Amino acid sequence: MNIKHHKVIILGSGPAGCTAAIYASRSGLEPLMIRGLEPGGQLTITTGVENYPGFAKTIQGPWLMEQMEEQAIAVGTKILTGTVISCNLKSKPFQFKTDSDETFTSDTAIIATGASAKWLNIPSEKKYKGYGVSACATCDGFFFKNKIVAVIGGGNTAVEEALFLTKFASKVILIHRRDKLRADKILQKRLFKNRIIDVVWNHVLEKIIGKEDKKIIKSIIIRSTQDDKAGEIKLDGVFIAIGHKPNTDLFKNQIKMDNEGYILTKVNSTRTNIEGVFAAGDVQDKIYRQAVTAAGLGCMAAIESEKFISENL
Ligand code: NDP
Repeated sequence: MNIKHHKVIILGSGPAGCTAAIYASRSGLEPLMIRGLEPGGQLTITTGVENYPGFAKTIQGPWLMEQMEEQAIAVGTKILTGTVISCNLKSKPFQFKTDSDETFTSDTAIIATGASAKWLNIPSEKKYKGYGVSACATCDGFFFKNKIVAVIGGGNTAVEEALFLTKFASKVILIHRRDKLRADKILQKRLFKNRIIDVVWNHVLEKIIGKEDKKIIKSIIIRSTQDDKAGEIKLDGVFIAIGHKPNTDLFKNQIKMDNEGYILTKVNSTRTNIEGVFAAGDVQDKIYRQAVTAAGLGCMAAIESEKFISENL
């Protein structure tokens, strides 16, 4: 078997992975970045980005990620399109097997596998996933031209999704379980100003109802968190935007995580409990979760990785 060795392997290609790749390349480490299931990460499924410094005008998330990856390649990063399906972080060097049955080893690893959208996990959500139920307005909004849709959640994602959906839908109903949104004030202002959007406060989604024998949504049942009363809303689509969970299943029982699955790192560092393994971005940060903080953590991981190699190998 042909096993290829690298000084640094980076798992994930979002802002954390790409920034780690740029810094590690510029330190002469010739890293391999394995792009993962969602190349470019979550920014590739958003639209306008207004809070990444350096751009006075709104830029597009997918464009920003293309630029980051191109920059990483320009300074010497090797890119592998594929996903790691198993790894051994207990061996030295570390081992990684990909979905194309290739095996790689490395002296250090930077885990930047990010986070994925959470689901409510109710049976009807599963039944209609891909048939009117989605967690990505940018991907699926187009299918709801002149239709009525609901967005579940009260954070930045929910509000951005609701605003984005107004480009297509005739009515967007944001349903939130409390009476206050968690989203940034600037987004809230835009939301409340938009005439296409209605907000239903203090309700949770209980059930999605479809048309008989057809996988098409007809309505939803929502329940009040105040008086437990149920109500029905007729609509065509439901977007779930209730937060994210870290993509760490691959590392279970190998690396220390908290009870939500976020990789634990040392204070002011991206070092994990395994020497030579670093974690950066949404996979370890559950507080800030921004592209710019992920990029900063990716930079830290590359610097710490370089230091580890020069001191230990
Ligand atoms: P958040 O965790 O910020 O918000 C999740 C929302 O979903 C909350 O309003 C929460 O309600 C609600 N929720 C959670 N679980 C349930 C449930 N089971 N049923 C009903 N509602 C539920 O996640 P986001 O994905 O919105 O954002 C994640 C991070 O990414 C944040 O740090 C955010 O700032 C950032 N982000 C930034 C953007 C930007 O700057 N442009 C864009 C998008 C995301 P409750 O409030 O009651 O807890």
